Amino acid sequence: MDNQDLRKAGLKVTLPRMKILQQLESSKERHLSAEDIYKALMDAGEDVGLATVYRVLTQFEQAGIVLRHNFEGGSAVFELADEEHHDHMVCMESGEVIEFLDEEIEKRQHRIAEEHGYEIVDHSLVLYVRPKAGSK
Ligand SMILES: [Zn+2]
Repeated sequence: MDNQDLRKAGLKVTLPRMKILQQLESSKERHLSAEDIYKALMDAGEDVGLATVYRVLTQFEQAGIVLRHNFEGGSAVFELADEEHHDHMVCMESGEVIEFLDEEIEKRQHRIAEEHGYEIVDHSLVLYVRPKAGSK
């Protein structure tokens, strides 16, 4: 994902857009809130306001560069849309987001939709979890 991808997505290359894209790519955590990105930019000495971060993330979402997740109990998080489909688990204690993909679940979902006379256009599955007693 680089400046050319911004242009391909129909977005002009601007400094805030470049900086925010860089944050999304370089962060260890794949799922970031607007505040996370804003804070990381501040720490890096970049002068990008929170309102700009929100606006750019919305533009990225509309352009298909990022996916927005509205997990319960937290603010919306964003991740780059360049990965294969996957589902999420959210830890209710730490807020950690864990990605997973289960072929059985994927297949069953298709089967269930089919049984109702539909085909799946898109789906998202979120499990809200907490550490199992005694496992951590
Ligand atoms: Zn994810």
